[in-house]
Amino acid sequence: MDTTSDPLLRPSLHGRTALVTGAASGIGRACAEAFAAAGARVYVVDLAAGPAEELAERIGGVAHVADLSDPDAVEALPTDADIVVNNAGLQHVAPVHEFPMERFTLIQRVMVEAPFRILRRTLPHMYEREWGRVVNISSVHGLRASAFKSAYVTAKHALEGLSKTVALEGAPHGVTSNCINPGYVRTALVEKQIAAQALAHGIPENEVVEQIMLDRTAVKRLIEPDEVAQLAVWLCSPSASYITGASLPVDGGWTAH
Ligand code: NAD
Repeated sequence: MDTTSDPLLRPSLHGRTALVTGAASGIGRACAEAFAAAGARVYVVDLAAGPAEELAERIGGVAHVADLSDPDAVEALPTDADIVVNNAGLQHVAPVHEFPMERFTLIQRVMVEAPFRILRRTLPHMYEREWGRVVNISSVHGLRASAFKSAYVTAKHALEGLSKTVALEGAPHGVTSNCINPGYVRTALVEKQIAAQALAHGIPENEVVEQIMLDRTAVKRLIEPDEVAQLAVWLCSPSASYITGASLPVDGGWTAH
């Protein structure tokens, strides 16, 4: 047990198992690392086999290579998780009338149906142990819309609803469920958007960040993945046990507008 940290703020998660989806990159990877550092055994779930296996080996976790758009692959994931971090996600930018149907369906499968399937299979284990933590990596787009991101905004709003319902059902069993709502985090997902917008607007990438992405943000910088991960770990601490059904923005003031 780690005696160097304040147990109220930085929980010891020894004896707990955390399942993190989309754990091979970005926020998911930071979460997997942070949960392992707090003592949890981590199931590193991702589509990307190499990076998932590499990370699992480095943090002493177990890799589960799975395409979350495939219900059979989701149903094959372990059920004995005390902590679930629903994180895997993808973006597609297009106006509604031009949005490819298959991208819309894929985004709902990965970002709504997979979290639902994972929770319905892992909640019985949490209920049995009378303790569980569900951390849904939502977005400011779980609270607000932006043009051209219909599938993503729809999926994140659905995840918010699922999170609150699980909070109500889980409370008598010692299970909390919350959303974290980041603004722009420095990850591969955002790097791709920066490059695409630079091309679309014909401006350098640093101007995309400063003038477009951070336009509504009071704190003028991108968020680092570890800042999100630390909040996810804190939600599993004893001092957060009364926080459930909540949506916690980590957005530098984006939703304050
Ligand atoms: P990322 O692209 O760096 O990582 C996403 C991970 O999910 C990748 O490892 C990818 O392989 C995995 N993944 C994608 N589709 C999958 C599938 N079908 N099956 C299994 N794994 C799959 O992205 P990120 O920025 O770290 O995003 C993680 C989560 O955070 C997403 O839900 C995203 O919506 C949310 N988020 C990101 C930001 C941001 O600015 N980066 C802001 C708010 C919310």
